[in-house]
Amino acid sequence: MTKRTEIAEYGEFALIDHLTGNFRAADPSTVKGPGDDAAVIDAGERYMLLSSDMLLEGIDFDLTSFPLKHLGYKAVVTGIGDILAMNGIPRQITVSIGVSAKISVEQLEEFYSGIRAACEEYGTDLAGGDTTASVRAACEEYGTDLAGGDTTASVTGLAIAVSAVGTVEKDKISYRSGAQTNDLICITGDLGAAYMGLHLLEREKRAFRGNDNPHPEFGGYEYILRRQLQPYARLDVVKELHEAGIVPTSMIDLSDGLASDLLQICKSSRCGARIYLEKIPIAKETHRMAEELNADPVVAALNGGGDHELLFTVPLSLRDKVARLGGVDIIGHVTAESTGAALVTPDGGDIQLRAQGFK
Ligand code: ADP
Ligand code: MG
Repeated sequence: MTKRTEIAEYGEFALIDHLTGNFRAADPSTVKGPGDDAAVIDAGERYMLLSSDMLLEGIDFDLTSFPLKHLGYKAVVTGIGDILAMNGIPRQITVSIGVSAKISVEQLEEFYSGIRAACEEYGTDLAGGDTTASVRAACEEYGTDLAGGDTTASVTGLAIAVSAVGTVEKDKISYRSGAQTNDLICITGDLGAAYMGLHLLEREKRAFRGNDNPHPEFGGYEYILRRQLQPYARLDVVKELHEAGIVPTSMIDLSDGLASDLLQICKSSRCGARIYLEKIPIAKETHRMAEELNADPVVAALNGGGDHELLFTVPLSLRDKVARLGGVDIIGHVTAESTGAALVTPDGGDIQLRAQGFK
């Protein structure tokens, strides 16, 4: 019998390492392959950056509560976030979709209106893509049956793949791996809001299940909803960094939550970290929603994900310069690898951070 290993035995990060660890770059222009936010390609005077992301209905988004225009916008934000995380400027994207007969042309037009809005906002061009019919549509067309009923939900859903291309001056690139002991750990915006927005959407969906004319209650929670449905990619911050002449020693986009993403920096940079709980930026609405749901806003910030903010490190000597940038908070500092990554609570206690990622 052939061996079968379950994905859960690895988990997301170990699985990626396992599958990609044996690849060695053969082309001399490949500067960095898998392992950072984007691949780095030597394009002569500058580096070219390339990233790809996949979004699946039922896993990454729920079409019953996610307007398609917002979804198109968010797909672009997800794609270019990885370019920004290398301190690069996004230039082009390609968008590929897997569709089934369940979705209409009008819905796809909505989706592309969101893509257009994001392309205009971030000065990025749509440069191509691919369109495939999913298994269900193909089965219907060819009159064949799909074996295995319980997987149909995922194979008939909307699948979105975004590739993004960007550029960065060679001396301005930020990898995950450059953090040095004593560097300051910085965060843009605030954390946990997207996650609380998701909880709010789910609560309203549960409350109105089976109701033909639902009027969900979102009053007073516009901010966290926007953070979930229409996140902003921090192109503004990357431009500000360029203008201020600050090159982060390391950077990552916050996609999986502060704990997980900081641990990625620690792993790549072979360093530890100390971050201070009371310095983690959390919006008032996030606190209020968490209280209403009996959840901990700090847990939302650490493990929630989806914030699309940037986490970066800079040398201690740049403290004043960074403090002058609007909307950037210094939440801690880089330590030696042996100390691990710890969250310091107001009473001085240490909590070791743990990675999330899918199982
Ligand atoms: P992000 O959350 O920033 O998109 P991931 O954690 O998904 O990054 O991926 C980490 C690194 O692993 C990236 O460099 C990515 O390109 C690479 N990677 C992820 N999945 C695959 C795959 N299936 N094949 C090759 N490389 C992959
Ligand atoms: Mg990333």
